[in-house]
Amino acid sequence: MNYRVEVKKNLCISSAKCVSDAPKIFKFDQDELAEPVSETTQEQLAVLIRLARNCPGEAITIYDENGSVISLE
Ligand code: SF4
Repeated sequence: MNYRVEVKKNLCISSAKCVSDAPKIFKFDQDELAEPVSETTQEQLAVLIRLARNCPGEAITIYDENGSVISLE
């Protein structure tokens, strides 16, 4: 299953946590706000959930193939 990641840029505080921990998943745009590089895979899901939990802006949301939000619990 592939997953779609969304960064709510109005919540991103440019901490760089996600970008430095997972440069294959996140990058900075020209305003140094994080954005996803591409869709992510099942193997990356655990990393992604950890990053979303630890995002200081609570800016990261993960969706499954059906568009449902993945719980961070
Ligand atoms: S961890 Fe959160 S606040 Fe920090 S750069 Fe990534 S999306 Fe932005």
